[in-house]
Amino acid sequence: MVLLNLALLLEPRLNVFVVDTDLLFPETYALIDRVERKYGITVQRVHPAQSVAEQNATHGDALWKSDPDACCDLRKVAPLRDYLRGFDAWMTALRRDQSGTRIEIPVRAWDESTQVVKIAPLANWTEDDVWSYVRENDVPVNTLHYDGYPSIGCTHCTRRVAAGEHARAGRWSGFDKVECGIHVA
Ligand code: SF4
Repeated sequence: MVLLNLALLLEPRLNVFVVDTDLLFPETYALIDRVERKYGITVQRVHPAQSVAEQNATHGDALWKSDPDACCDLRKVAPLRDYLRGFDAWMTALRRDQSGTRIEIPVRAWDESTQVVKIAPLANWTEDDVWSYVRENDVPVNTLHYDGYPSIGCTHCTRRVAAGEHARAGRWSGFDKVECGIHVA
């Protein structure tokens, strides 16, 4: 949301999108609506090729439980790759302090998986930098952040974190999985 706020100040005609797995929290969908109203933009919803019901029929019920890597490939990685075919570059709010898997992310690099340039302008920002900017600029954020969810993905794969847990401990809890594959495989 910080990146979106900054980027729209520079270029109000930016193409803004969200990878909508059809499994996001109601609070996340509410945030998308708030963003559209606040900034006067349309957020493109990038959906998977299959609905959840179709995926259940094709790959078995609750693929996120049996094979979350495959589920993320179908519902996140492939839709993003297909969507980005029409673009030269995309921006993401990845930060190096978010996790051990992100500690070396470049600010600008060729993204082999999507075949476009990937830019991470906030790579060197800290979590404190982000929250200071949010407060000082009245940036809309997901209300779940105030309810124990520092990192938010799909409903089935995100839980509250306890005091002292890592911010991403609530993602794919119980699995040996820390990334969906969009940013780090
Ligand atoms: S986060 Fe979970 S439900 Fe969402 S796409 Fe990945 S495995 Fe599927």
